[in-house]
Amino acid sequence: MENRLENIFIDPHALQFDEALQLLQQAGAMLPDAQPYGQEWLQAIIDALCDLSSKDALTGLVNRRSFEMAMSREVDRVARSGEPALLLILDIDHFKAVNDSYGHAAGDLVIKAVAAVMAQTLRPMDTLARIGGEEFAVILPNCPSSFGATVAERIRERVAEMKVQVAPGKQLNVTISVGGAFAPQWVRSSSLLWMERADRQLYRAKAEGRNRACLEAHVESLVSAEEKGMLFALTQQEGV
Ligand code: GH3
Ligand code: MG
Ligand code: MG
Repeated sequence: MENRLENIFIDPHALQFDEALQLLQQAGAMLPDAQPYGQEWLQAIIDALCDLSSKDALTGLVNRRSFEMAMSREVDRVARSGEPALLLILDIDHFKAVNDSYGHAAGDLVIKAVAAVMAQTLRPMDTLARIGGEEFAVILPNCPSSFGATVAERIRERVAEMKVQVAPGKQLNVTISVGGAFAPQWVRSSSLLWMERADRQLYRAKAEGRNRACLEAHVESLVSAEEKGMLFALTQQEGV
């Protein structure tokens, strides 16, 4: 891509950075050492603002807004490519009891520890987000159904095996419940419907006793090559 910005002169007095810098400082972001208003400095500020708007402050994971955008892209990709993709929603069990017994700060430590274990268990291509207080979600692109069940179970096990130190000499065990659903292939769907299906499975995992993973059965699509072609023809016509 042609770099049209290369020779643009930046007049620092014409730019309003105060609010952005203040926001970054309040968020505890490291401000760059580089020459102010130089290219390196501007890039670092842009990167820091992108992080601030797309990441969760407590865990450093992708935030809900950014995750919803990633889901929409994946729904679209699955519809066109037919590759299976799995959405998992993971919720810490009886988390309110952790806060009530050990305090909110201890609860935060548990959330961070669970996030770290999940991140270590996933592939680089997977998108892991914190979508609520003690609720996480993962998109696993290109995930065959047998692999999906194994991954969900592996994450559940790793969290259950972990101990979180919440105070000197005080270690806690926590468990999670997991719900999962595959994105429908070769059809037009929405991230909202996908999320609702995974949520129903999470609800089932909670109702069946928690500390378990429930995945919706994955049905192989019976769409013919001709029908797949019609889907592409339609999206191209509409300029999607
Ligand atoms: P369940 O097994 O059904 O999921 O029970 P639960 O206790 O985990 O669920 P519930 O939704 O009742 O409680 C979630 C709690 O999470 C309530 C809220 O106070 C707490 N919470 C939400 N966000 C945060 C956070 O950022 N930090 C801490 N420490 N607690 C949070
Ligand atoms: Mg919970
Ligand atoms: Mg919850």
